[in-house]
Amino acid sequence: MDSVPTSVSAAADARRKGFRGSIVTPDDPDYEAARHVWNGMIDRRPAIVLRARSVSDVQIAVSLARETSLPLAVRGGGHGLPGFGTCDDGIVLDLGELREVVVDEAERTARVGGGATWADVDAATHAHGLATPGGLVSTTGAGGLTLGGGMGWLARAYGLSCDNVLSAQLVVASGEVVTAGPTEHPELYWAIRGGGGNFGVVTEFEFALHPVSAVTGGLVLFPLARAVEVGRAYRRWVDGLSDRLTTMLVFLTAPDAEFVPVALRGEAAVAIAGCHIGSADEAERDLASIRALGPAADVFDVLPYPDLQRFFDDDVPAGRRYYMKGLFGTMPDDAVETIAARMVGRPSEAIEVDVHHLGGAVARVGEDATAFADRSSPFTFNVYSIWDDPAADEANRDWVRGLTDALGRFGSGRAYVNFATDREAVGRVEAAYGTERHERLVEVKRRWDPGNLFRINQNIQP
Ligand code: FAD
Repeated sequence: MDSVPTSVSAAADARRKGFRGSIVTPDDPDYEAARHVWNGMIDRRPAIVLRARSVSDVQIAVSLARETSLPLAVRGGGHGLPGFGTCDDGIVLDLGELREVVVDEAERTARVGGGATWADVDAATHAHGLATPGGLVSTTGAGGLTLGGGMGWLARAYGLSCDNVLSAQLVVASGEVVTAGPTEHPELYWAIRGGGGNFGVVTEFEFALHPVSAVTGGLVLFPLARAVEVGRAYRRWVDGLSDRLTTMLVFLTAPDAEFVPVALRGEAAVAIAGCHIGSADEAERDLASIRALGPAADVFDVLPYPDLQRFFDDDVPAGRRYYMKGLFGTMPDDAVETIAARMVGRPSEAIEVDVHHLGGAVARVGEDATAFADRSSPFTFNVYSIWDDPAADEANRDWVRGLTDALGRFGSGRAYVNFATDREAVGRVEAAYGTERHERLVEVKRRWDPGNLFRINQNIQP
């Protein structure tokens, strides 16, 4: 109950400081919606939710957190599965209204508000026949996804989302507004490209844009019994694959959809999903050897890039229960067999294992050029489950953890922080980045946030 007086005094302080956005406290009818994030497993009750409308509002929220010592959760798109976009008894700084996207067609750049989703970014850039690499779904926040790295449909052609950040404007722990770029605060610029939300609140990103309009995207689907054969062919195929094509091997339950043969619907299956940015003829040629395997279904088609970004949106709705883990590594037959064997005993129909193929433009950026943890592993495993019944929490978590542990022997030892659902302990964050990179991140943290104001994240402790 003591959060009520805290919320009242924090709201009064925010107003007195000139906060102009909306303020939501526990007695507000909007509070239930405002306290929740994407993952339905997260049930936290902040003292106050501040919906910033301007950079000055962000500064006020940051100074309020500093002065009151209340925990501060910064929310971009709210997709962070550990629930870093909310907190108990503290301040949620919601950036959802800072979603403006301004495109400079001639310079091929876009200025993107810190709370924009990829749907916002894609809509604005597509109008100019341009795009910047986002993720695989449109509802995710550009903020959290980019700060952690950002793996999506354009990765092999144009790199990770963070590789396309030309500069960023941040409100740092002192309340100061700073720009981080190649010449201004280069260490901070290095750290925010992979190091997460540890260093300040990004109010605006400047992204490089590329000519991307229509793409050939979709998937081919096979029964799980063919997993090893398909995995082998996939590995051969991606070795030397054109960078125009970004793909992943997906283990899933075949959907109850028209394009799937009736006998395969609801059964475990393996798919190759991808995005080709070249011409339809080039895509036809590059996809030929995979199609020659004789998939049970083939839904690769030419479509506008934003439509591909929305292709999987319905499969990952807000409010369901999510648990995810990921690691970088290689994918020999053993790895495919390990995944296929566990798919048979999966506790949820909505379990998925996405094996992202990297390389291409991701691997052409120097290992030390950004804080992103691993650019040399050819694959990233993303193991996740989605379900609704709280009684099934343990079974789903155990399944994801069990498979991730079993895949550990194929791993590089590094992990992608954006795919972790647990609030990782310091040692695990260090392992995810590797010791040297972690030490460099600690140095930057000490310079910009020595009091660890921004600690509700995969935390780099100063
Ligand atoms: P939030 O929970 O709002 O933020 C996550 C973290 O980033 C928090 O620590 C937050 O404080 C910080 N943060 C967010 N915005 C800012 C900002 N402007 N300034 C400072 N800190 C900020 N990842 C991929 O790489 N590729 C994918 O294709 C992909 N698909 C996904 C699909 C779904 C359905 C989900 C749930 C996740 C997916 N992810 C993917 C993982 C995703 O990258 C992370 O969940 C990411 O943290 C989401 O960012 P957000 O802004 O939506 O989340």
